[in-house]
Amino acid sequence: MTTIRHISAASCDYTDFDAIVVGSGPSGSIAARTLAERGHRVAVLEYGGLVSPGAMYGPHQAAYSRAFTSSDGPADGNPWTACGVGGGMQFYNAITLRYRQADLSASRYLATDMEVDWPITLQDLEPFYAEIEHLLEVSGSNGFPSYPASSRGLLLSNAMRALGIRPKRIPLAIRPPGTSKGCIVCSACDELACPTEAKASVLARNILDDSALPGTISVLYGCFVNRIALRNDATAEALECYVPLSSELIRIPVGKVIVCANAVQTAALMLRSKSAYAPKGIGNGSDLVGRGLSFKISGYSVGHMESAGCDAAALAPHWGTHATVYTDEFYEHVDVPCGFGGLIYEANFPSPHGNAGLVRLHYIAGEEPWSHNRVVLDEAVDPDGIPRIRFEYANSQNDCARIGFLADRADEILRHLGAGRIEREPFAHSKGSSHLHGTMRAGSDPGTSVVDSCGRIHGFTNIHVMDGSVMNFAGNSNPTHTIMANARRMAMSLDRRET
Ligand SMILES: Cc1cc2nc3c(=O)[nH]c(=O)nc-3n(C[C@H](O)[C@H](O)[C@H](O)COP(=O)(O)OP(=O)(O)OC[C@H]3O[C@@H](n4cnc5c(N)ncnc54)[C@H](O)[C@@H]3O)c2cc1C
Repeated sequence: MTTIRHISAASCDYTDFDAIVVGSGPSGSIAARTLAERGHRVAVLEYGGLVSPGAMYGPHQAAYSRAFTSSDGPADGNPWTACGVGGGMQFYNAITLRYRQADLSASRYLATDMEVDWPITLQDLEPFYAEIEHLLEVSGSNGFPSYPASSRGLLLSNAMRALGIRPKRIPLAIRPPGTSKGCIVCSACDELACPTEAKASVLARNILDDSALPGTISVLYGCFVNRIALRNDATAEALECYVPLSSELIRIPVGKVIVCANAVQTAALMLRSKSAYAPKGIGNGSDLVGRGLSFKISGYSVGHMESAGCDAAALAPHWGTHATVYTDEFYEHVDVPCGFGGLIYEANFPSPHGNAGLVRLHYIAGEEPWSHNRVVLDEAVDPDGIPRIRFEYANSQNDCARIGFLADRADEILRHLGAGRIEREPFAHSKGSSHLHGTMRAGSDPGTSVVDSCGRIHGFTNIHVMDGSVMNFAGNSNPTHTIMANARRMAMSLDRRET
């Protein structure tokens, strides 16, 4: 039976574990599960605590440190997805799309000063996508029922069709209303930890449950991994951790370590882990760790449904999921600047009544990775003595043109729906995002990449990375499905390599 305990309450012998995973988000959890399926005894170290059902993202995350986004301003950037057992998936909107080959070979459309193509193909991911869809009970897959379009989604679909844009139903990792343990439609569902288990999460879908597995999983939360200590060679010897509850420093010996802390935190951990053997940080011999930081360039358009002819569904409050309908019409399309766009989808506000009279669309596209966009450690330290994170970051003109194109299409859809006025929410990309990618790039050449195609850091025997940081291009879709499928693929190959 999986142990999930605050580290201060866990009386375990740390030498009992074959592998330590840093971070209990979807990538860390699926990596831990994959190893436990193969008989390994795995500990998952997690900084955040348990997230209460019904918790809202904003208040939950307010407790965690911010990053600097300029050399002289306040710490106003978000270097996390979410901190807690289950990571960002506890609060996510459960949009569960697969990537396309174009996301993995984006050099067809984009040119930057970094390698943008992944060292694997879509075919390599496909079996793992299918497994994750089964595990998360993704609507419309494997015989799981489709999630019905919301009344707003139906309006948007009609407007899209009238404009010659194909609408599609979003695959959601949420059990539809009316099915066994299905959604109870209690809220507008954005940035919310599901109060029932209708929405998938690491805990709701038992990803960390080892009861039927030959190995074991122990989740020890309340533990911040500050440094990876090396032996006098290319081998991790221990993790130096800080326990905020007790102000204690503890040292946890490791056989192998798998870092799944998110693309900002994983890079920061490697940069903090300087030693005589790794003077610029672990994996940073080519000065690549932290570089290529890429979020999703994204934006929202809000249509004010003021005209008398607007449909009642647009004027009413909204209870249900954040999004049910999208279009990928402009994913790869000749009219988009450089031919490579992204998604446009329904994006209801978190408060049911906040939606009355408003219809909101979200548009996203994967950002170009540039070496000047990066995570660095600031000279300032936080109250626990840990160096603050700083983003050095600017959007490219091409990304701005791509998202501008999608924004214009979204506005056309809203106008067709009867919006009298359309507001665009201001972009805040330099301040972080919940889609974090690219800082530990994957490839076979240590001169242009940090990890190999299976996540092992070049030149280091037992240090692996399996989160969004290894994605060379962020992809034009919501990433968690791909992050999980890729983590499972990597964890499988790690096991094969050693047996
Ligand atoms: C409001 C919201 C909505 C979203 N909606 C969607 C969606 O609909 N679809 C989608 O695909 N994606 C969505 N996402 C993004 C999704 O949450 C992330 O893609 C996903 O969580 C990334 O998984 P991960 O395991 O790589 O990282 P994370 O989920 O960030 O997990 C990393 C974990 O590591 C821990 N950690 C970090 N550093 C340390 C350290 N030094 N020591 C110990 N622990 C550490 C963190 O506390 C965290 O729990 C959403 C995110 C948010 C916030």
